Amino acid sequence: MWGKGLITGLAITMRNLLRGPITLKYPFEKADLPERARWAVTPTYDEAGAPKCTACMACIRACPDNILELEVTTREDKSKHIEHYTYEIGACMMCGLCVEACPFDAIEMGHDYELAVYGADELTVDLLADVDAAPVKRAKPADKPAPAEKSAGIDSEKSAPAEKEATDD
Ligand code: SF4
Ligand code: SF4
Repeated sequence: MWGKGLITGLAITMRNLLRGPITLKYPFEKADLPERARWAVTPTYDEAGAPKCTACMACIRACPDNILELEVTTREDKSKHIEHYTYEIGACMMCGLCVEACPFDAIEMGHDYELAVYGADELTVDLLADVDAAPVKRAKPADKPAPAEKSAGIDSEKSAPAEKEATDD
């Protein structure tokens, strides 16, 4: 039909003319990020406020950038104490592989996107420091596969360091 394109174009123009603004007055207004948004790695805690991390090292092995470090001491009773769980946020590509590898849901990709700091030395942070690791036997393994390890074709029994360490202990 002659003029159909013209009418369609005008309809689109009118729709956008009457639509409300979709921008936000940041920093006074902030967007609610979708659930799957990935920002900095963040530790999670149980109901009692204790970290869920068992110091199993799975996340350390999973990180392609080698920017997670866990300094752990083991007591005579085999319980573990996390001295430092260090995260080099400035080098993180926010791939989420560490979160996927964690058998205990002890870390997640946070939604805080205001990560600017004044100095480069502030880009390396302690996710956890001077806290007891959660006992492996009492920690509830997360009900999820480990896609990173599966996609790499690694045998699932070999790629479950938490369970392996639990049996070692
Ligand atoms: S999100 Fe990716 S790059 Fe960042 S710490 Fe985790 S595994 Fe490493
Ligand atoms: S429990 Fe999770 S966060 Fe803690 S060392 Fe193991 S994989 Fe990393």
